[in-house]
Amino acid sequence: MSDYPHLLAPLDLGFTTLKNRVLMGSMHTGLEETGDWNRVAEFYATRARGDVGLMVTGGIGPNPEGSVAHGAAMMTSQKDVDNHSIVTQRVHEAGGKIAMQILHAGRYAFSPDCVAPSAIKSPISMFAPKELDAEGIEKQIADIAACALRAKQAGYDGVEVMGSEGYFLNQFLVTHTNKRTDEWGGSYENRMKLPVEVVRRVREAVGPDFILIYRLSMIDLIPNGSTFDEVVQLAKAVEAAGATIINTGIGWHEARIPTIATSVPRAAFAWVTKKLMGQVGIPIITSNRINTPQVAEDVLAEGCADMVSMARPMLADADFVAKAAAGKADQIAPCIACNQACLDHTFGGKISSCLVNPRACYETELKVEPSHSVKTIAVVGAGPAGLSAAITAAERGHKVTIFDRASEIGGQLNLAKQVAGKEEFWGLVDWYRAMVKERGVTVNLNTEVSANDLGGFDEVIIATGVVPRDPQIPGQNAGNVVSYIDILNGKVTAGKKVAVIGAGGIGFDVSEHLVHDGDSTTTNLPEWMKEWGVTDPADHRSGLAPEGPQPHAPAREVTMLQRKTTKVGKGLGKTTGWIHRASLTMKNVRMIGGVNYEKIDADGLHISFGEARETPQLIEADTIVLCAGQLSDRSLADALEAKGIPCHVIGGADVAAELDAKRAIDQGTRLAATL
Ligand code: NAP
Ligand code: SF4
Repeated sequence: MSDYPHLLAPLDLGFTTLKNRVLMGSMHTGLEETGDWNRVAEFYATRARGDVGLMVTGGIGPNPEGSVAHGAAMMTSQKDVDNHSIVTQRVHEAGGKIAMQILHAGRYAFSPDCVAPSAIKSPISMFAPKELDAEGIEKQIADIAACALRAKQAGYDGVEVMGSEGYFLNQFLVTHTNKRTDEWGGSYENRMKLPVEVVRRVREAVGPDFILIYRLSMIDLIPNGSTFDEVVQLAKAVEAAGATIINTGIGWHEARIPTIATSVPRAAFAWVTKKLMGQVGIPIITSNRINTPQVAEDVLAEGCADMVSMARPMLADADFVAKAAAGKADQIAPCIACNQACLDHTFGGKISSCLVNPRACYETELKVEPSHSVKTIAVVGAGPAGLSAAITAAERGHKVTIFDRASEIGGQLNLAKQVAGKEEFWGLVDWYRAMVKERGVTVNLNTEVSANDLGGFDEVIIATGVVPRDPQIPGQNAGNVVSYIDILNGKVTAGKKVAVIGAGGIGFDVSEHLVHDGDSTTTNLPEWMKEWGVTDPADHRSGLAPEGPQPHAPAREVTMLQRKTTKVGKGLGKTTGWIHRASLTMKNVRMIGGVNYEKIDADGLHISFGEARETPQLIEADTIVLCAGQLSDRSLADALEAKGIPCHVIGGADVAAELDAKRAIDQGTRLAATL
C-alpha cells in the first residue's frame, strides 16, 4: 500500500474524477503576460506529467477594470480563447486537468480605473477605487460569467472564482470595505449577494458537468472581517448556487499576519478548513504551508479537508505527486516557503521561478538533457551553488566528485537552519543529501583540496563560497566580539545585551536567533497563533484575537545597526521583509541606521552619526556580533589560474555581494546544464 492512501485516492466529482487529492493552487507566475503560449503550456504540462490531480491557473481578469494591473492577462476575446486552448490541449495530452482562475481584483487592482463596493483605498494600493453603481455591478457579474464561458470554450475543465484574499468579491462581504446602503450592502444577506450571484450566473453560463471552484475566505485576519457563522452561511449559499468544490482562502493581502511565509507553521490553517467539513455536501480543499506528502496526508487523514492545495511546492518540484506515489518522497525538492523567486518576483514585475528549482517557469529555456560525452567533473564546495551544479551535472550523466572541508554538506544552509523560523532549511539540506546519493555523486567531506589535486578532471567547478567581511572597527579584537558564524553554529553563547553590526539578511537572522528562547513557534502552532494574535473566527470575528499579538518576552536586549541611512531591512524580500521587521519589533529589537562605528571596548559599541561624526553614543553590550557582509573566497580559483588549470567559479566565490541561495542555485544549475 502507498504511504499516502488519503492523498493518492481519486476524488469522484460525479461527472468527472480527479486522479488524486492534490490541487496545484493558483499562482501569478507572469507567464501568461509573456505572450509565449508555448512556454505557458509547457509549464502546466510539465506539472500534469507529474500527476497532480487538478491545476488552477494564475488569476485571469474578466475585464480591464478587474484585472490586477494594466497589461495583465484577461479572458475577454476569441484571441484569448485561442491562446488558452494551446495550454489546455497540451495539459490534456499529458493526462492532466486544469481550471482557469477568474480573478477580479477590485480595489487591489493596480489601476486608476479600479472598482469596488465603496470608494475606500486599501493600505497596500496606489489607487482609490470607484464605487460601483447598480449597473456597474451587473456589468461585473456579466463579465465574470462571460469569462467563465470563454474558459470553457478554451477547453478548461473548470474555473475557480476567486472570492478570498481580499479581492473584489471578498470586498463586498465585509463592512471593512462595503459601506453600501443599497441591496448590495448593509445586512450580511445583502453583502453576500454578489459572490452568490456570481456563482449562480457562472454556473448558468457554463452549464452542468464543468468544475466550478469557489475560493472562500475562511479567516480574513483584518478588522471587521467575517464571523465563522457568516463563512458557513456563504459556503452553503455558494453550494446551492452551483459550486462543485470550495477552496480555502486565508487572510487578506493587507492583513498584517503572515500566512504563507516560512516562519508560519506547516498546515497552520488546516484547522480552519476543518470547521467547515460536514457543513456542506461538496468537497472542500485546504491550503497554506502544506509542503510535503506527509503533511498533506496527515491533514486529509485528520479529516481537515477532502483535498489539499499546494501551489509553491509545485514550482519547487513538478513531479511532487509522481515521486510521492513512487515511494521517492525524499527526492521531492522542498518548497522552503521563502518567496524569494516566486512571490518576490511577481511583486517585482519579474517572471516567477523557484529558489530550489530554477527550471520552474523556464521549462522551454533551461533544459537539462543527457550529455553527449561523459566528463569527469570536480566540484569544490558543497554549499547550494556546488550541490546544485553537482546534482545537475550528474543528472546529465557526468561523473561528479564534490569536495568540502566541512563534515557535512550544505554550506551556509547549515547556518540558516539554526535560526528559529527557518526550520525548512533542514529539509533542503536533506533533499540535497538524497539527491547526491540518487545521482551517484561521489562526496568527499572533511577534505581540503588544493590546486594540485584538481589537474586530472575534465572540468573543475569552484564553489568555495564566502568569508565574512572584516569591518575593521577599532577594538574589535576584544573577547566580546564574535562572528555570526560562531553565534549561529552555537560555538558562542551571547550575553544578555547584544549589538549586531550589520542589518542585512544575516543581521536579521542573527537578531531573530538572539531574541529567541526555547522552541521555535514555527513548530508550535498554538504558540505561533498567540504570538501573532490569531484565534478561532468562531470566537472572534475575522480570527483576530482581541488582546492582539502576545509574543514571548525577548531572550536578550538586541540592538541592530547599519551605516546606511535607509530604512533598516529595506533590502529584505519584498513579501517577507515586513514580517522580519514586525517580528523583531515585537521583541523590542532596536534598529538604528546612519551610524559610524567608532570603537569597541568593554562597555560595548561606541557609535556616532553623520559625516561630522556627531552625537556620540554608547550601545551597551556584553556581546557584539559582526554581520558585516561577505567577501568571495577565491583562493583556490586563483591558485588554479596560476597553474593554468581552467575552472568555472560560481556562487559566492564568484560574486559575494547580495549573494543568496537563489542566485547560487540558479548559477550552479545553469552552468551544469551546459557542460
Ligand atoms: P548583506 O545583506 O550584504 O548585509 C551586509 C550588512 O553589513 C549590511 O547591513 C551593511 O550595512 C553592513 N556592512 C557592509 N560593509 C560593512 C562594513 N565594512 N562595516 C560594517 N558594516 C558593513 O549581507 P549579509 O547580511 O551577510 O547576507 C548575505 C546574503 O545572504 C545577503 O545577500 C542576504 O540577502 C542573504 N540572506 C538572505 C536572507 C533572507 O532572509 N532572504 C537571510 C540571510 C541571508 P551598511 O553598509 O549600511 O553598514
Ligand atoms: Fe517555495 Fe521559495 Fe521556491 Fe517560492 S521560491 S516556490 S517559496 S522554495
